[in-house]
Amino acid sequence: RTILALLDGQISGADKPPGHGFSSNSDDENVRDALSKTDPDVQFNMLYQPRICTASGRVCAVEALVRWENPALGAIPPATFIPVAEQSGDIAWITDWTLQTACNAVRDWTDQGCPAIPVSVNISPMGYTDPRFIGLVANAIRVAGIPANRLELEVTAGLSLCGNKKASATAAALRDLGVRVNIDSVVDQGLPDSTLTVENQACLQRGDKFIRRVTGKDPVSTLQAMLKLGAKMGIKTVAAGVETLQHAEFIRKLGFDQMQGFHISRPLAQGDLAHWIQSRASA
Ligand code: C2E
Ligand code: MG
Ligand code: MG
Repeated sequence: RTILALLDGQISGADKPPGHGFSSNSDDENVRDALSKTDPDVQFNMLYQPRICTASGRVCAVEALVRWENPALGAIPPATFIPVAEQSGDIAWITDWTLQTACNAVRDWTDQGCPAIPVSVNISPMGYTDPRFIGLVANAIRVAGIPANRLELEVTAGLSLCGNKKASATAAALRDLGVRVNIDSVVDQGLPDSTLTVENQACLQRGDKFIRRVTGKDPVSTLQAMLKLGAKMGIKTVAAGVETLQHAEFIRKLGFDQMQGFHISRPLAQGDLAHWIQSRASA
């Protein structure tokens, strides 16, 4: 199990171009309408962002991040269309497409001689609790012909993994399959008596403020407490949104197991990711 925490959750929108925004009802309707007519093999694309081991600097996983380019609407970020797809039911084929695409990428990287690293696929709460979900996962692995432990799932914020019957049944079935489940932005889901308040999260999000605010007494001790808890429970901790060398050094000092962010690499196309990994391995 992995806790993906820290700078995450709030940051996702930070690099969105100004003026974009599909917030009104009619925008949602346009997105919904376009989604229902979309052929993912034409309009969807998957990018992959490496996650590295803080101590060794080695790549330990890549996160699959979906992109949608619609001829009429332009580039629509997942934070906009995933919630719409959850409402419309389109999430089922999106989940299927993302799982299959990511598993196929793992197979291709292996064929190209890349080291055996797992791919981590974001799954929305509705995708995760869908009764067909386990079948989709098993099928994607089988079709790609990869070992189950090369696929990890990142369950996005908003789903209680423990207090939800369907979710616990899914977790058990995934364990049987040999697929790991990670929790994305545990901060968003509210730890029991979460000390990472909304206010604290806000302090953690933007580049400049990060170091200044986080070196303040409270956020650091909160993070240290989370790290301690993670270590005690055998849960790996991942710092996401690492944008600068300063961030990276701070994260290393605090003792996070893994990190991910623009400082390490932006999300990359499948072929570029292979080159990135290979050039790093030989550096
Ligand atoms: P997430 O899983 O927390 O993904 C991390 C987001 O942060 C990504 O945005 C990524 O591009 C961005 N990011 C990575 N490093 C940095 C950094 O250093 N600084 C900043 N400011 N941002 C960084 P993206 O790709 O727009 O994804 C947003 C969210 O959409 C994801 O958050 C995830 O919840 C959801 N999502 C993305 N792809 C999928 C997918 O295939 N399926 C589902 N269900 N959800 C997805
Ligand atoms: Mg994620
Ligand atoms: Mg994340």
